[in-house]
Amino acid sequence: MTYTKINQDHINQLKQIIDEEDIFLDNDNLKKYGKDETEDLIYKPEIVLKPKNVLQISEIMKFANVLKIPVTVRGAGTGLSGGALPIFGGIIISMERFNTILNIDERNLQATVEPGVINYTFQEEVKKIGLFYPPDPASWGSCSLGGNVAHSSGGPKAVKYGTTRDYVLNIEMVLPNGDIIWTGANTLKYSTGYNLTHLMVGSEGTLGIITKIVFKLIPLPKHDLLMLVPFTSAEKACEAVGATFRAGITPSAMEFMERDAIDWSIKYAGDVNFLIKEEWQALLLIEVDGNNLDLLFNDCETINNLMIENGCDEILLADSAEQKAALWKIRRKVGEAVKSNSVYKEEDTVVPRAELPLLLKGVKEIGEKYGFKSVCYGHAGDGNLHVNIIKGDLSDEIWETELPKGITEIFELCKKLGGTISGEHGIGLVQKDYLSIVFPKHQLILMQNIKKLFDPNLILNPGKIVF
Ligand SMILES: Cc1cc2nc3c(=O)[nH]c(=O)nc-3n(C[C@H](O)[C@H](O)[C@H](O)COP(=O)(O)OP(=O)(O)OC[C@H]3O[C@@H](n4cnc5c(N)ncnc54)[C@H](O)[C@@H]3O)c2cc1C
Repeated sequence: MTYTKINQDHINQLKQIIDEEDIFLDNDNLKKYGKDETEDLIYKPEIVLKPKNVLQISEIMKFANVLKIPVTVRGAGTGLSGGALPIFGGIIISMERFNTILNIDERNLQATVEPGVINYTFQEEVKKIGLFYPPDPASWGSCSLGGNVAHSSGGPKAVKYGTTRDYVLNIEMVLPNGDIIWTGANTLKYSTGYNLTHLMVGSEGTLGIITKIVFKLIPLPKHDLLMLVPFTSAEKACEAVGATFRAGITPSAMEFMERDAIDWSIKYAGDVNFLIKEEWQALLLIEVDGNNLDLLFNDCETINNLMIENGCDEILLADSAEQKAALWKIRRKVGEAVKSNSVYKEEDTVVPRAELPLLLKGVKEIGEKYGFKSVCYGHAGDGNLHVNIIKGDLSDEIWETELPKGITEIFELCKKLGGTISGEHGIGLVQKDYLSIVFPKHQLILMQNIKKLFDPNLILNPGKIVF
């Protein structure tokens, strides 16, 4: 793909579209907006724009489309698959000024937001009036709702309440040619032609720029209980996951952490005092929520018995808000802790949940075959295992030659088990080469044709997913 480089004349034209104070050309900003949370990758854009309204975005897109300048839209830059990296340079459109919760409609249990609103801010705001927006990525304190929609992000609560996709009713978006559309309607049901709303969810900034989102909300459950269940075998912990659901219980969170993940996270968090026994190899963090506390205690009792049957050690039921917060902190800090520990590569594998023990066993065997260590954790109730492959002392040569082979085998195993290569982090840049493991060529061509229909000049987030 050949794209136009930005020159002074282009900059002057952009100054006619957005305020000069919203245009950034200095090296510090180009570096800052050339990175996200994906490994240590960096691709500097040629210019960063921070528009304030949809008309400005529309004009920027018309301008870029005519001139064939690549445009990459960015939320908060916490993505883990390189989706927001401007690999061909060009323009970064940062959505950080779209940070307003426009309306919370208590009559219809809906909210209209701008995409730059931070997930946690939104959660807290709706909570104030007894409402609940469940999608809660571990990065909730820093990621944006637009990024969440673009990845259909999940989080611990997805196991009971679903991922971002399940809460998006309608989207205002700017197409690559500058046209502005609403994708659907603010309704709970929709059977009116092709569902562009759901096509946009998970499209990773390749089909259009999200400028408003209408979300469904639900009533906030009144109570929750949190249990920490230790196991001396990680595989046994994974086996206990499927058993819980088969017993008719749907926890509101069911998270898995392997030993190294726990140790690193506690060390990284710094202020969590929690004794981890030498023999524990894995933990399950299990939460139940609802409005009837007695029923929740009954559920905990049933889970308790099931876990004992599956060989757990002594279970802890968190007895205060502080203890719950400390346990959640261990889980939420794992990703950052792994990153601070070593060069690593994160894979976002997902399989039907009862296949989780086979996935974990296979990952370890593949690691042994290629000589790498992995640390696993994730949303076990969803069958979603984050596999962090650690570089440690491996030479650069082995890392570069053997790692892709190992990853390919892990992804082939996912497919064989009925799963796929990403549950919530997306394909973006870094998983693109592996997409052919799960889709045949004609299916990839179908996806490429969808992309071309939206974006014939391939200017929006080029180099991602299928192009
Ligand atoms: C410590 C840590 C923990 C994490 N935990 C989780 C987790 O539990 N669950 C999970 O799902 N993810 C998790 N993530 C990944 C990440 O936070 C999510 O993918 C998040 O949704 C990205 O949001 P963002 O605003 O940072 O998006 P960015 O990284 O800025 O962008 C991500 C993608 O969205 C596109 N995009 C952003 N805004 C728009 C828009 N307005 N219109 C169109 N496209 C847009 C970008 O082009 C890019 O392709 C974690 C990341 C970190 C660093």
